[in-house]
Amino acid sequence: MFAPARAAYIHVPFCLRRCGYCNFTVVAGRPELHQAYLQALEREFQTLPGPVPVDTLYVGGGTPTQLRARELSELCRLLRTAFIPQSGYEWTVEANPDGLDRVKLDILCEAGVNRISLGVQSLQPGKLQLLERAHRAPDVLRILPLLRARFRSVSLDLICAVPGESLAAWQADLLAAVALDPDHLSIYSLTFEKGSLFWGRLQRGQLQPVAEETERAMLEAAWDHLAATGWDHYEVSNFARPAHRSRHNEVYWRGESYWAFGPGATRYVDGWRETNHRSTTTYLRRVLSGQSPVAEREKLAPVDRAREMLVFRLRMLEGISRVEFRQRTGLELDDLVGVPLRKFVDLGLLQDQHGCIRLTRAGLLVSDAMWPEFL
Ligand code: SF4
Repeated sequence: MFAPARAAYIHVPFCLRRCGYCNFTVVAGRPELHQAYLQALEREFQTLPGPVPVDTLYVGGGTPTQLRARELSELCRLLRTAFIPQSGYEWTVEANPDGLDRVKLDILCEAGVNRISLGVQSLQPGKLQLLERAHRAPDVLRILPLLRARFRSVSLDLICAVPGESLAAWQADLLAAVALDPDHLSIYSLTFEKGSLFWGRLQRGQLQPVAEETERAMLEAAWDHLAATGWDHYEVSNFARPAHRSRHNEVYWRGESYWAFGPGATRYVDGWRETNHRSTTTYLRRVLSGQSPVAEREKLAPVDRAREMLVFRLRMLEGISRVEFRQRTGLELDDLVGVPLRKFVDLGLLQDQHGCIRLTRAGLLVSDAMWPEFL
Protein backbone atom coordinates (compact mmCIF):
# COMPACT_ATOMS: atom_id res chain seq x y z
CA MET A 1 0.00 0.00 0.00
CA PHE A 2 1.21 3.48 -0.82
CA ALA A 3 0.54 6.46 1.38
CA PRO A 4 -1.45 9.11 -0.57
CA ALA A 5 0.63 11.89 -2.11
CA ARG A 6 0.43 15.04 0.02
CA ALA A 7 2.91 17.13 -1.98
CA ALA A 8 2.58 18.72 -5.41
CA TYR A 9 5.08 20.23 -7.82
CA ILE A 10 4.05 22.57 -10.63
CA HIS A 11 6.56 23.34 -13.37
CA VAL A 12 6.37 26.80 -14.96
CA PRO A 13 8.63 26.61 -18.02
CA PHE A 14 9.02 30.31 -18.84
CA CYS A 15 12.19 32.39 -18.55
CA LEU A 16 13.15 35.80 -19.81
CA ARG A 17 16.08 34.20 -21.61
CA ARG A 18 18.12 31.03 -21.25
CA CYS A 19 21.17 31.22 -18.99
CA GLY A 20 24.32 29.75 -20.52
CA TYR A 21 24.58 26.79 -18.16
CA CYS A 22 20.89 25.82 -18.17
CA ASN A 23 19.44 22.67 -19.75
CA PHE A 24 16.16 22.66 -17.83
CA THR A 25 12.72 22.38 -19.41
CA VAL A 26 12.44 26.05 -20.27
CA VAL A 27 11.21 28.27 -23.09
CA ALA A 28 12.79 31.71 -23.24
CA GLY A 29 10.91 34.85 -24.26
CA ARG A 30 7.55 33.26 -25.23
CA PRO A 31 4.99 35.23 -23.20
CA GLU A 32 2.35 34.50 -25.86
CA LEU A 33 2.28 30.90 -24.52
CA HIS A 34 1.43 31.87 -20.94
CA GLN A 35 -2.35 31.77 -21.38
CA ALA A 36 -2.33 28.41 -23.14
CA TYR A 37 -0.09 27.07 -20.38
CA LEU A 38 -2.58 28.11 -17.69
CA GLN A 39 -5.41 26.47 -19.63
CA ALA A 40 -3.37 23.27 -19.97
CA LEU A 41 -2.58 23.27 -16.28
CA GLU A 42 -6.28 23.62 -15.47
CA ARG A 43 -7.00 20.61 -17.72
CA GLU A 44 -4.28 18.60 -16.01
CA PHE A 45 -5.68 19.43 -12.58
CA GLN A 46 -9.06 18.09 -13.77
CA THR A 47 -7.48 14.60 -13.80
CA LEU A 48 -7.11 14.76 -10.02
CA PRO A 49 -9.62 12.77 -7.97
CA GLY A 50 -10.95 16.09 -6.51
CA PRO A 51 -9.35 18.84 -4.44
CA VAL A 52 -6.28 17.20 -2.91
CA PRO A 53 -5.14 17.92 0.66
CA VAL A 54 -1.43 18.78 0.57
CA ASP A 55 1.24 19.61 3.13
CA THR A 56 3.58 21.11 0.56
CA LEU A 57 3.22 22.89 -2.78
CA TYR A 58 6.24 23.80 -4.88
CA VAL A 59 5.97 26.04 -7.94
CA GLY A 60 9.28 25.77 -9.77
CA GLY A 61 10.74 26.44 -13.16
CA GLY A 62 11.81 28.05 -15.23
CA THR A 63 10.86 31.29 -13.60
CA PRO A 64 7.30 31.21 -12.23
CA THR A 65 7.45 34.96 -11.58
CA GLN A 66 8.01 35.50 -15.30
CA LEU A 67 4.21 35.19 -15.59
CA ARG A 68 2.50 38.60 -15.72
CA ALA A 69 0.72 39.72 -12.54
CA ARG A 70 -2.77 38.68 -13.71
CA GLU A 71 -1.40 35.33 -14.93
CA LEU A 72 0.32 34.71 -11.62
CA SER A 73 -2.96 35.49 -9.92
CA GLU A 74 -4.73 32.97 -12.18
CA LEU A 75 -2.08 30.34 -11.41
CA CYS A 76 -2.65 30.83 -7.67
CA ARG A 77 -6.41 30.57 -8.17
CA LEU A 78 -5.99 27.29 -10.06
CA LEU A 79 -3.76 25.93 -7.33
CA ARG A 80 -6.14 26.94 -4.56
CA THR A 81 -8.95 25.15 -6.42
CA ALA A 82 -7.00 21.94 -7.10
CA PHE A 83 -5.28 21.65 -3.72
CA ILE A 84 -6.23 22.21 -0.10
CA PRO A 85 -3.15 23.25 1.87
CA GLN A 86 -3.35 21.64 5.29
CA SER A 87 -2.55 23.33 8.59
CA GLY A 88 1.16 24.21 8.80
CA TYR A 89 1.61 23.81 5.02
CA GLU A 90 4.65 24.99 3.10
CA TRP A 91 4.08 26.68 -0.28
CA THR A 92 7.25 27.58 -2.15
CA VAL A 93 7.54 29.63 -5.31
CA GLU A 94 10.82 29.94 -7.19
CA ALA A 95 11.62 33.46 -8.30
CA ASN A 96 14.39 35.38 -10.00
CA PRO A 97 15.36 38.86 -8.87
CA ASP A 98 14.76 40.40 -12.30
CA GLY A 99 11.21 41.33 -13.18
CA LEU A 100 9.98 40.82 -9.63
CA ASP A 101 7.89 43.63 -8.15
CA ARG A 102 5.61 44.44 -5.22
CA VAL A 103 2.46 43.65 -7.19
CA LYS A 104 3.56 40.09 -8.00
CA LEU A 105 4.85 39.53 -4.46
CA ASP A 106 1.57 40.75 -2.99
CA ILE A 107 -0.35 38.34 -5.22
CA LEU A 108 1.76 35.42 -4.00
CA CYS A 109 1.57 36.49 -0.37
CA GLU A 110 -2.21 36.96 -0.46
CA ALA A 111 -2.65 33.55 -2.12
CA GLY A 112 -0.87 31.93 0.83
CA VAL A 113 2.65 31.40 -0.50
CA ASN A 114 4.97 31.36 2.51
CA ARG A 115 8.38 30.44 1.07
CA ILE A 116 10.39 31.96 -1.78
CA SER A 117 13.39 30.31 -3.37
CA LEU A 118 15.36 33.08 -5.05
CA GLY A 119 17.79 32.29 -7.89
CA VAL A 120 20.58 34.61 -6.78
CA GLN A 121 23.54 32.43 -7.88
CA SER A 122 26.07 35.16 -7.05
CA LEU A 123 26.44 38.75 -5.93
CA GLN A 124 29.58 39.32 -8.02
CA PRO A 125 28.93 41.34 -11.21
CA GLY A 126 31.49 39.48 -13.36
CA LYS A 127 30.26 36.06 -12.28
CA LEU A 128 26.61 36.94 -12.93
CA GLN A 129 27.57 38.18 -16.36
CA LEU A 130 29.55 35.05 -17.15
CA LEU A 131 26.60 32.90 -16.05
CA GLU A 132 24.45 35.00 -18.43
CA ARG A 133 21.99 35.77 -15.66
CA ALA A 134 19.40 38.47 -16.32
CA HIS A 135 19.83 40.16 -12.91
CA ARG A 136 22.58 42.05 -11.11
CA ALA A 137 23.44 42.24 -7.39
CA PRO A 138 21.45 45.48 -6.79
CA ASP A 139 18.31 43.64 -7.96
CA VAL A 140 18.84 41.12 -5.14
CA LEU A 141 19.39 43.85 -2.56
CA ARG A 142 16.24 45.65 -3.74
CA ILE A 143 14.07 42.57 -3.61
CA LEU A 144 15.14 40.97 -0.33
CA PRO A 145 13.41 43.39 2.07
CA LEU A 146 10.22 42.95 0.03
CA LEU A 147 10.47 39.17 0.45
CA ARG A 148 11.26 39.43 4.16
CA ALA A 149 8.16 41.55 4.75
CA ARG A 150 5.88 38.99 3.10
CA PHE A 151 7.17 35.43 3.44
CA ARG A 152 8.08 33.22 6.39
CA SER A 153 11.08 31.66 4.68
CA VAL A 154 13.52 32.90 2.06
CA SER A 155 15.99 30.57 0.37
CA LEU A 156 18.86 31.64 -1.88
CA ASP A 157 20.48 29.51 -4.59
CA LEU A 158 24.22 29.97 -5.07
CA ILE A 159 26.64 28.58 -7.65
CA CYS A 160 30.35 28.03 -7.12
CA ALA A 161 33.22 26.76 -9.29
CA VAL A 162 32.47 29.06 -12.18
CA PRO A 163 35.27 29.36 -14.79
CA GLY A 164 37.97 31.72 -13.56
CA GLU A 165 36.63 31.82 -9.99
CA SER A 166 39.21 31.60 -7.20
CA LEU A 167 38.65 30.11 -3.77
CA ALA A 168 38.96 33.59 -2.22
CA ALA A 169 36.41 35.05 -4.65
CA TRP A 170 33.94 32.27 -3.83
CA GLN A 171 34.42 32.76 -0.10
CA ALA A 172 33.70 36.48 -0.49
CA ASP A 173 30.60 35.69 -2.56
CA LEU A 174 29.33 33.23 0.05
CA LEU A 175 29.92 35.68 2.90
CA ALA A 176 28.05 38.39 1.01
CA ALA A 177 25.08 36.04 0.53
CA VAL A 178 25.10 34.88 4.17
CA ALA A 179 25.20 38.53 5.27
CA LEU A 180 21.78 38.92 3.61
CA ASP A 181 20.49 36.64 6.39
CA PRO A 182 18.54 34.06 4.36
CA ASP A 183 16.71 31.20 6.08
CA HIS A 184 17.94 28.56 3.66
CA LEU A 185 20.77 28.15 1.17
CA SER A 186 21.19 25.76 -1.77
CA ILE A 187 24.77 25.60 -3.01
CA TYR A 188 25.76 23.86 -6.23
CA SER A 189 28.95 23.75 -8.20
CA LEU A 190 28.59 24.62 -11.85
CA THR A 191 28.09 21.62 -14.11
CA PHE A 192 28.40 21.58 -17.86
CA GLU A 193 25.22 19.87 -19.05
CA LYS A 194 24.74 18.51 -22.54
CA GLY A 195 22.27 20.73 -24.36
CA SER A 196 23.41 23.90 -22.59
CA LEU A 197 25.30 26.71 -24.33
CA PHE A 198 28.14 26.21 -21.87
CA TRP A 199 28.51 22.60 -23.02
CA GLY A 200 29.24 23.80 -26.56
CA ARG A 201 31.63 26.47 -25.29
CA LEU A 202 33.43 23.84 -23.21
CA GLN A 203 33.84 21.58 -26.28
CA ARG A 204 35.24 24.52 -28.28
CA GLY A 205 37.73 25.32 -25.51
CA GLN A 206 36.11 28.71 -24.80
CA LEU A 207 35.45 27.85 -21.15
CA GLN A 208 37.84 26.21 -18.70
CA PRO A 209 36.27 24.41 -15.74
CA VAL A 210 37.94 25.16 -12.41
CA ALA A 211 40.36 22.49 -11.20
CA GLU A 212 38.76 19.64 -9.27
CA GLU A 213 40.83 20.41 -6.15
CA THR A 214 39.66 24.03 -6.24
CA GLU A 215 36.04 22.98 -6.58
CA ARG A 216 36.38 20.64 -3.60
CA ALA A 217 38.10 23.34 -1.56
CA MET A 218 35.20 25.70 -2.40
CA LEU A 219 32.57 23.23 -1.24
CA GLU A 220 34.49 22.37 1.91
CA ALA A 221 35.03 26.06 2.70
CA ALA A 222 31.26 26.59 2.43
CA TRP A 223 30.44 23.56 4.58
CA ASP A 224 32.96 24.58 7.26
CA HIS A 225 31.84 28.19 7.39
CA LEU A 226 28.14 27.33 7.50
CA ALA A 227 28.59 24.59 10.11
CA ALA A 228 30.65 26.94 12.28
CA THR A 229 27.91 29.58 12.12
CA GLY A 230 25.05 27.31 13.15
CA TRP A 231 23.59 26.22 9.82
CA ASP A 232 22.01 22.77 9.51
CA HIS A 233 23.70 21.02 6.57
CA TYR A 234 20.89 18.55 6.04
CA GLU A 235 21.30 17.46 2.43
CA VAL A 236 24.31 17.29 0.11
CA SER A 237 23.63 20.77 -1.33
CA ASN A 238 21.21 22.27 1.20
CA PHE A 239 21.55 24.24 4.43
CA ALA A 240 18.85 25.56 6.73
CA ARG A 241 18.36 27.76 9.74
CA PRO A 242 16.32 25.94 12.44
CA ALA A 243 12.78 25.11 11.20
CA HIS A 244 13.58 26.24 7.65
CA ARG A 245 14.40 22.99 5.85
CA SER A 246 12.65 22.54 2.51
CA ARG A 247 9.86 20.19 3.55
CA HIS A 248 8.81 19.71 -0.06
CA ASN A 249 12.26 18.55 -1.14
CA GLU A 250 12.40 16.29 1.90
CA VAL A 251 9.41 14.45 0.40
CA TYR A 252 11.63 13.53 -2.59
CA TRP A 253 14.62 12.67 -0.43
CA ARG A 254 12.52 10.42 1.79
CA GLY A 255 11.20 8.56 -1.26
CA GLU A 256 7.57 9.56 -0.59
CA SER A 257 4.80 10.11 -3.16
CA TYR A 258 4.10 13.43 -4.88
CA TRP A 259 1.99 14.91 -7.65
CA ALA A 260 3.53 16.94 -10.46
CA PHE A 261 2.14 19.02 -13.34
CA GLY A 262 3.45 21.02 -16.26
CA PRO A 263 5.95 20.27 -19.03
CA GLY A 264 8.67 17.80 -18.10
CA ALA A 265 7.23 17.30 -14.60
CA THR A 266 7.65 13.89 -12.97
CA ARG A 267 5.12 12.55 -10.47
CA TYR A 268 5.26 9.50 -8.26
CA VAL A 269 1.84 8.33 -7.16
CA ASP A 270 0.66 4.82 -6.08
CA GLY A 271 4.02 3.32 -7.08
CA TRP A 272 3.81 4.68 -10.65
CA ARG A 273 6.32 7.17 -11.95
CA GLU A 274 5.14 9.32 -14.83
CA THR A 275 6.95 12.07 -16.68
CA ASN A 276 5.22 14.65 -18.88
CA HIS A 277 6.58 15.67 -22.29
CA ARG A 278 9.59 17.92 -21.85
CA SER A 279 8.79 20.11 -24.84
CA THR A 280 6.46 22.90 -23.72
CA THR A 281 4.79 23.16 -27.12
CA THR A 282 4.21 19.38 -27.31
CA TYR A 283 2.84 19.43 -23.77
CA LEU A 284 0.46 22.27 -24.62
CA ARG A 285 -0.67 20.68 -27.88
CA ARG A 286 -1.37 17.35 -26.23
CA VAL A 287 -3.19 18.60 -23.16
CA LEU A 288 -5.28 21.17 -25.02
CA SER A 289 -6.37 18.57 -27.58
CA GLY A 290 -7.52 16.23 -24.83
CA GLN A 291 -4.54 13.86 -24.94
CA SER A 292 -2.41 12.76 -22.02
CA PRO A 293 0.77 14.82 -21.47
CA VAL A 294 2.58 11.73 -20.17
CA ALA A 295 5.66 10.75 -22.17
CA GLU A 296 6.97 7.99 -19.89
CA ARG A 297 5.24 5.77 -17.39
CA GLU A 298 6.67 2.95 -15.29
CA LYS A 299 5.63 0.91 -12.29
CA LEU A 300 8.63 0.58 -10.03
CA ALA A 301 9.34 -2.96 -8.80
CA PRO A 302 9.68 -3.09 -4.99
CA VAL A 303 13.43 -3.76 -5.27
CA ASP A 304 13.97 -0.75 -7.58
CA ARG A 305 11.87 1.41 -5.32
CA ALA A 306 13.96 0.35 -2.34
CA ARG A 307 17.23 1.10 -4.15
CA GLU A 308 16.02 4.56 -5.20
CA MET A 309 14.75 5.32 -1.75
CA LEU A 310 18.14 4.37 -0.32
CA VAL A 311 20.00 6.72 -2.66
CA PHE A 312 17.64 9.61 -1.94
CA ARG A 313 17.92 9.00 1.80
CA LEU A 314 21.70 8.89 1.67
CA ARG A 315 21.66 12.37 0.12
CA MET A 316 20.35 13.51 3.50
CA LEU A 317 23.16 13.81 6.00
CA GLU A 318 21.18 12.03 8.72
CA GLY A 319 21.42 8.87 6.56
CA ILE A 320 19.15 5.89 7.08
CA SER A 321 19.00 3.12 9.67
CA ARG A 322 18.68 -0.53 8.75
CA VAL A 323 15.52 -0.70 10.87
CA GLU A 324 13.84 2.13 8.96
CA PHE A 325 14.92 0.66 5.63
CA ARG A 326 13.34 -2.69 6.59
CA GLN A 327 10.14 -1.01 7.79
CA ARG A 328 9.81 1.08 4.63
CA THR A 329 10.72 -1.59 2.08
CA GLY A 330 10.32 -5.01 3.72
CA LEU A 331 13.87 -5.74 2.56
CA GLU A 332 17.22 -6.15 4.31
CA LEU A 333 19.65 -3.39 3.38
CA ASP A 334 22.66 -5.73 3.44
CA ASP A 335 20.96 -8.32 1.21
CA LEU A 336 20.20 -5.63 -1.36
CA VAL A 337 23.37 -3.52 -1.45
CA GLY A 338 25.82 -5.28 0.90
CA VAL A 339 28.68 -5.33 -1.62
CA PRO A 340 28.80 -1.60 -2.59
CA LEU A 341 27.97 -0.68 0.99
CA ARG A 342 31.04 -2.49 2.36
CA LYS A 343 33.20 -1.12 -0.45
CA PHE A 344 32.26 2.50 0.30
CA VAL A 345 32.60 2.00 4.06
CA ASP A 346 36.12 0.58 3.48
CA LEU A 347 36.94 3.58 1.28
CA GLY A 348 35.81 5.94 4.04
CA LEU A 349 32.97 7.37 1.92
CA LEU A 350 30.14 5.98 4.07
CA GLN A 351 29.91 5.53 7.81
CA ASP A 352 28.19 2.43 9.20
CA GLN A 353 27.62 3.04 12.89
CA HIS A 354 24.95 1.84 15.33
CA GLY A 355 22.97 0.34 12.45
CA CYS A 356 22.80 3.63 10.56
CA ILE A 357 24.44 4.41 7.20
CA ARG A 358 25.42 7.97 6.33
CA LEU A 359 27.80 9.90 4.12
CA THR A 360 31.19 10.91 5.50
CA ARG A 361 32.83 14.25 4.60
CA ALA A 362 34.87 12.42 1.93
CA GLY A 363 31.68 10.78 0.64
CA LEU A 364 29.89 14.11 0.40
CA LEU A 365 32.49 15.30 -2.10
CA VAL A 366 32.01 12.36 -4.47
CA SER A 367 28.48 11.24 -3.68
CA ASP A 368 27.14 11.51 -7.25
CA ALA A 369 29.73 8.97 -8.40
CA MET A 370 28.60 6.49 -5.74
CA TRP A 371 24.88 6.31 -6.48
CA PRO A 372 25.00 4.22 -9.70
CA GLU A 373 26.48 1.34 -7.71
CA PHE A 374 23.38 1.24 -5.51
CA LEU A 375 20.86 1.38 -8.35
S1 SF4 B 1 16.61 31.41 -14.84
FE1 SF4 B 1 16.98 29.29 -14.16
S2 SF4 B 1 15.57 28.02 -15.34
FE2 SF4 B 1 15.66 30.04 -16.35
S3 SF4 B 1 17.22 29.81 -17.92
FE3 SF4 B 1 18.26 30.61 -16.10
S4 SF4 B 1 18.99 28.78 -14.98
FE4 SF4 B 1 17.47 28.09 -16.50
